[in-house]
Amino acid sequence: MPPTATLEDIKAYQQKVEKDKITPDNLPPCPRCSVESMFFKIHAYRERRFLIIIEMLIKAAYCSLVRFKCPGCGKTFTEYPDFAIPHKHYTQPSITGFSASYVESEHMTYQQAVMVDNSAPGYPQNDATLAPSTIHRWITTLGSFTQSCRTALILVLQQNPTLSICRDLAQLIIPPRKYKTNHRKKQLIGCRQLVIIEDFFQATFNTSIFTKLATHCAFS
Ligand SMILES: [Zn+2]
Repeated sequence: MPPTATLEDIKAYQQKVEKDKITPDNLPPCPRCSVESMFFKIHAYRERRFLIIIEMLIKAAYCSLVRFKCPGCGKTFTEYPDFAIPHKHYTQPSITGFSASYVESEHMTYQQAVMVDNSAPGYPQNDATLAPSTIHRWITTLGSFTQSCRTALILVLQQNPTLSICRDLAQLIIPPRKYKTNHRKKQLIGCRQLVIIEDFFQATFNTSIFTKLATHCAFS
């Protein structure tokens, strides 16, 4: 089974939107004028297309996202559901799942990283499948969430000061064949650290870094 949000996850969020259950409370304060997010007002609803994987087929599912507006300066902010990562059509479980299997394997190639049980998830309309370059881009994104990782790590260590997680993170090695530049090496390490911290975060707080904590860190 490929990692993915389900149609039920997306429908459940759409129902929350329709019942006015989406609040701005998880958003950080306005970075321009410091107004607390609880004072933000609903600005607009925008339909968003997500790509989920159903029986190895990549299918579109739609749901509305809520944009809030800061009453102080007019800046707008989107509230994201747990299954969404800004600017990504695939859902967070797919993005983190496929990326994790690549960064955690010593020998895997990007061509192998898209495979689930010997085939790659495909589009129903044509012969196209999930592209290896897509996983490459997802790792770039996940590797950039340094603030989220740092915040999550602090929270985990506050709860469990004796954990060996810092040693685990410091000892991470990425095989040299996986990168050509130091910049890419940093992204791969950042992504792998995120995967490890997410595991500890889940074990400690029984919830994911996504999306509440990542939203609070403005997905940085
Ligand atoms: Zn503002």
